[in-house]
Amino acid sequence: MILAAALIAVVPCANAQDMLADEVRVQNQMEYADSIELHDMLLNESYIIPSDDMYPVWENSGVHYNAVLPDSFRIDLRGYVMPTTNTKITDIFGYRPRRRRVHKGIDVKVQKGDTIYAAFDGKIRITAYQRRGYGHYVVIRHNNGIETLYAHLSKKLVTENQNVKAGDPIGLGGNTGRSTGAHLHFETILMGKSIDPAFLFDFKNQNVTGEYYVYRKPGSKYMVNGEVKIAGPEPKYHKVKSGETISKIARKHGVSQSAIFKLNGLNSRSVIRPGQNLRVQ
Ligand SMILES: [Zn+2]
Repeated sequence: MILAAALIAVVPCANAQDMLADEVRVQNQMEYADSIELHDMLLNESYIIPSDDMYPVWENSGVHYNAVLPDSFRIDLRGYVMPTTNTKITDIFGYRPRRRRVHKGIDVKVQKGDTIYAAFDGKIRITAYQRRGYGHYVVIRHNNGIETLYAHLSKKLVTENQNVKAGDPIGLGGNTGRSTGAHLHFETILMGKSIDPAFLFDFKNQNVTGEYYVYRKPGSKYMVNGEVKIAGPEPKYHKVKSGETISKIARKHGVSQSAIFKLNGLNSRSVIRPGQNLRVQ
């Protein structure tokens, strides 16, 4: 039966990067399966949770919070619009040891006054100003179950509780709050928890990473062909400093050199340069 064939072809792997590859495989399967029935069945899989059920409360405050996330959640990326037409990433998602904090989003270079667009259909949950943080910022709750945040805006073009369509202008790029140089700080948030926007959006190529992205809670178990798999840890990155070697970076993060080679497509002869971001987990 077609459905079984399509599902068996999905072999989730231990880390998120590989999950992206799996999603692409799912799509390829779906392109061949032009049955609307099959499509509906895939949509009705257990990890689809309508946003109304996920978020029973509507509040105009509190960007991040601790909620119990589902073990897995499939985010529908169809119908996206890129938040900005700019393509240059100036900072990535992840932990910053020096500041002892997590950079909860991705930074994209913009010019002051550049239009910023809603990424998906949804409703404006927060419009606010944070002098020492986000500056002028907007949070949208989307029908697909995630929220997006747009920060350091020079101007907000929407008001709280307003419905928006993907691609509606929601603000203008700027340099407000804790920011040096105009840029868009963009976050993708699932039930109060920021996840790496790079899993969903490819700014360089102005595209999404697939029709869907499956979030899996680290350590959660799932079944593939009767075999229990455990979702791997969330990816961790290291920004190479001058004079650092891969062996030194590997020791620092308690991982093997070969693991770093594998995660970054490098080999023992590869040269790394300061400022480069290496994935270490
Ligand atoms: Zn940022």
